[in-house]
Amino acid sequence: MLFSEQNYRRGEYCGSIEVICGSMFSGKTEELLRRLRRAQIAKLNVEIFKPKTDTRYDETAVVSHDLNSVESTPVETSTAILLLKPDTQVVGIDEAQFFDDNLPEVCNQLAKKGIRVIIAGLDMDYMGKPFGPVPALMAIAELVTKVNAVCMRCGSPAVYSYRTVANANRVLLGEKDSYEPRCRHCYHLGDIE
Ligand code: ZN
Repeated sequence: MLFSEQNYRRGEYCGSIEVICGSMFSGKTEELLRRLRRAQIAKLNVEIFKPKTDTRYDETAVVSHDLNSVESTPVETSTAILLLKPDTQVVGIDEAQFFDDNLPEVCNQLAKKGIRVIIAGLDMDYMGKPFGPVPALMAIAELVTKVNAVCMRCGSPAVYSYRTVANANRVLLGEKDSYEPRCRHCYHLGDIE
């Protein structure tokens, strides 16, 4: 797998964009935190942002399901990410699907300034439709990592977040109990037992 960590040993003008995407329970945030921790070990200045709408667990920490967390800044809009500390070298962005459509432009600006940008987000909503700015981010990234969950019905790699409760809203808060990861085949089986 390609990583751009070595880019920082060559100078400050080689920023990059990495996207970590997949369904719910696929380990996106864990992978984001793993890369950010490596950057911290390398003594790089790391800042983490998440959308203010993501209030499931904690206001100021990116918290993954295994409870590894790193302090983060909740922001209302993607443009607010540009107000980061001037010495920031690595930017992590979690729950990217909830950001506005300007996020790709913001990430391009950060990368142009030499910053390594690492983004985690859902690539599809529960309907299987591309979610928010994530598809555009995948298009402009140097590196896209699609992580799979495990299908709760058959054990195959799962790319879909199947909603197990009846609700047509795109976003459900307290959502963890309302979804299960499924493979393509089992996703299309629907609720039929
Ligand atoms: Zn399956």
